[in-house]
Amino acid sequence: MIDVINIRKDFSVLNTKIYGNPLIYLDNAATAQKPECVIQTVAELYRTANANIHRGVHFLSEQCTEKYEQAREKVRQFINAEKKSEIIFTSGTTGSINTVATSFGEQFVFEGDEIIVSEMEHHSNIVPWQMLCKRKNATIKIIPFDDKGVLRIDLLDSLINERTKIIAVTHASNVLGTINPVRQIIAKAHSYNIPVLVDGAQAVPHGNVDVCDLDCDFYTFSGHKIYAPTGIGVLYGKEKLLEQMPPYQGGGDMISTVTFEKTTYAQLPLKFEAGTLNFIDAIALGAAIDYINKTGRQNIIEYEHKLLDYATQKMSAVEGLKIYGEADEKVALVSFLLKDIHHLDTGMILDKKGIAVRTGTLCAEPLLTHFGKTGMVRASFVFYNTFDEIDILCENLKKISLMFK
Ligand code: PMP
Repeated sequence: MIDVINIRKDFSVLNTKIYGNPLIYLDNAATAQKPECVIQTVAELYRTANANIHRGVHFLSEQCTEKYEQAREKVRQFINAEKKSEIIFTSGTTGSINTVATSFGEQFVFEGDEIIVSEMEHHSNIVPWQMLCKRKNATIKIIPFDDKGVLRIDLLDSLINERTKIIAVTHASNVLGTINPVRQIIAKAHSYNIPVLVDGAQAVPHGNVDVCDLDCDFYTFSGHKIYAPTGIGVLYGKEKLLEQMPPYQGGGDMISTVTFEKTTYAQLPLKFEAGTLNFIDAIALGAAIDYINKTGRQNIIEYEHKLLDYATQKMSAVEGLKIYGEADEKVALVSFLLKDIHHLDTGMILDKKGIAVRTGTLCAEPLLTHFGKTGMVRASFVFYNTFDEIDILCENLKKISLMFK
């Protein structure tokens, strides 16, 4: 059970007033708020323990290194990876995907090769692959989705051929909310010996992710969407693949020995962690994972499902409101347009009432193009949101709908 009244006490920002109204924060898919324990972890580390990791023999350095490696172990358990060496800290989902596109691409993608992504990808899971294709003279192929926002995986066989080098697909769409059948996609890809990268930025905040069960080759997510600080994220990769890939960046920590003639690289995962990483925020990511585990992942899933069902039902009843994304399996977000009212107008009027939603391309222009739109409004929910907040959102949407008769 989620005790939302007590949970909200952990997120002091939720007490903020916006133009005199209580903040209703429905922009969680862009970034989630931070509980006090995460803020405290960061503040305490800077106050009492800050020292660069891995390089010092002194007390504080060793202490930070230990906490950093403990955080890696927490991440490993959180996504059920087999080995700690398969967990690489990055700056976020974008950093993780760029790492794979560059490093895997360098090793395995050549002229004439093909990469498959889906039509519902965030720009972060399109542009790094386009950049790679430009460098290597390779091409991108697209798995389309239908008008309900369901991926046409029935077309996968016709898209795959002997030149396909990797499939990169989102676990959950940041616009449609669709939870994709990634397990099935991975099984299909593996039957052709093709590895799969899963963008988990929107899936990890809302559910249990088990990379062993999925059997994915790469899995990526961002700390800031799961109540951790910004600037820290995770790349999971199967050891066998990561070992065959060259380092993404060169610098301190990722080396074994350096001479001007020849450099040898560190073992995994440090091979992919060049320079001074964001170790304080990595430790705070561990604190965020503790918070999620304490709240209960099953409790979170159940409560957010109820929020989504309630929001979908109430929002559908607003005259002239159209929801984009009607898949059976969705994470707790609703993208919509109200009549032919511009998305920015809706967003700005809601803002004046203290309601924070996202507007615009939602970093998924090809997805919006599918519907012939240049922008949408998105309300996204997590376990500190309430049913009352959804009521207030809908009351305001009704008023906006009437305003633009
Ligand atoms: N993929 C998806 C599906 C996302 O929703 C986001 C963030 N909106 C990203 C990738 C990029 O995440 P970040 O900006 O944290 O790197």
